[in-house]
Amino acid sequence: MDIAPLRSAVSGAVLAAEDQGWDAARASHAGVGRPDVIVRVSSLDDVSEAVRFAAASRRVAVVRGGGHSAWCTLDEGVLIDLSALDAVEVVEDSEGGALVRIGGGARWGDVARILSDQGLGISSGDTASVGVGGLTLGGGIGWMVRAWGLAADQLVGAQLVTAEGEVVEVSDASHPDLLWALRGGGGNFGIVTRFDFRAHDLPAVVFAELGLSGDARTLLAALRDVLATAPRELTVTYMDVPAMDPNAPAGATIAACWAGADEDALRAALAPLLAVDGVVENDLAVREYPDILLDHPAPEPDQQMPGFIGGNTLVVDLDEATIDALVAFRESTPASVLFLRSLGGAYGDVPQEATPFPARDATWFAMAGGFDIPGLVDDAERARLASAWAAIEDRGAGVYGNFSTSTDPAFAERIYPTETMARLAAIKTKWDPRNLFARNHNVVPA
Ligand SMILES: Cc1cc2nc3c(=O)[nH]c(=O)nc-3n(C[C@H](O)[C@H](O)[C@H](O)COP(=O)(O)OP(=O)(O)OC[C@H]3O[C@@H](n4cnc5c(N)ncnc54)[C@H](O)[C@@H]3O)c2cc1C
Repeated sequence: MDIAPLRSAVSGAVLAAEDQGWDAARASHAGVGRPDVIVRVSSLDDVSEAVRFAAASRRVAVVRGGGHSAWCTLDEGVLIDLSALDAVEVVEDSEGGALVRIGGGARWGDVARILSDQGLGISSGDTASVGVGGLTLGGGIGWMVRAWGLAADQLVGAQLVTAEGEVVEVSDASHPDLLWALRGGGGNFGIVTRFDFRAHDLPAVVFAELGLSGDARTLLAALRDVLATAPRELTVTYMDVPAMDPNAPAGATIAACWAGADEDALRAALAPLLAVDGVVENDLAVREYPDILLDHPAPEPDQQMPGFIGGNTLVVDLDEATIDALVAFRESTPASVLFLRSLGGAYGDVPQEATPFPARDATWFAMAGGFDIPGLVDDAERARLASAWAAIEDRGAGVYGNFSTSTDPAFAERIYPTETMARLAAIKTKWDPRNLFARNHNVVPA
């Protein structure tokens, strides 16, 4: 492939395997890939040129925002690195609220810090280095999901570079179908160079960590009952992990976030839970929102991460049988994790057909898996874990694509219900008929 025309067309760096800096450029949080070429775009024009180059050279475009997905680790394609497009601008919208314009390669930690300085927030995820791009386009479940919905629910417009390299301003008024597709349909429709979000007032949050001991089934049932009637300012996670490293103590914990600075309100909401045997309050304090986001360093390029046998599911009714199946899965092998996040509230206010995101009636997100540790896990155990997880997933109402590390092209069928997929495929056919943007949970053009 002759990359000389690309080098002369863009102002950002273009790297090939023989260039200095190649190894650093191809490493991301998710691992190390071997693309055909990497373009570190530095402007909107660069993005158009990179897309046109990928199309002309008949290579797939591999788009990297925050670099947390498995697609950045593939050994092919024109890798378009958006990380330099990270501007954040706050303007007043037509109703006097705050509209935030965010570059397509920005990361949530940086965005949250800039917004926090202005008393504002957008519901994002729990980790600072995750990209605005991947998280939003796939949905985005974060600490304010019950107060404000998904990250994608706050998206009101975008600037998109199409598969033809053209620039399109997307809004509900100009391209309602395209905006619909960007609210959960993934990176299938072009490269978003600017996301426009409606922000919310957020002076601070109250964050609590609860230590848990005792019967997990009883604790989870109590947590479910509290969330069934809790104000929507409250969002919680439940995490039960094995000892993995000295900074992450083994065992079960609940983290709770209150959208707002009212300590007493969080205490009141958690009171019934704190009355349960085995629940202790380790910490509860008013914090700035960016300070509660996690920040893991990227793994060393040669660090082998163990495989994960399990998955996630969107649960409508966290009944006793579902709790039992989740806890039994975790108990069946010490090297496993169980992770739940509360949904409902504003997440459930959004009509199902308003976005491509599945299962708006879900009240919980659950994820569990066993680690595929070489030498410890054999084929029989792998098969047992996979089948135990499949039975749990069957109880749910859908799968959240962003938390899947699968690069199986057929995986998108498990995320989107048939009618949603048909609508996404029609939009894909219009905007990317040759499937240039195929390295994502792929919607195949009709
Ligand atoms: C440590 C960790 C914590 C996480 N926490 C959360 C969480 O709290 N909540 C949650 O909902 N999810 C969470 N996730 C999942 C996360 O949403 C996905 O991994 C997401 O794909 C990451 O986005 P990214 O931009 O960092 O990744 P990337 O790998 O850069 O991109 C992922 C996908 O999005 C596409 N894409 C990215 N940017 C653009 C753009 N500007 N235009 C077009 N396409 C684009 C890419 O092509 C690719 O298909 C977490 C993941 C990790 C690894």
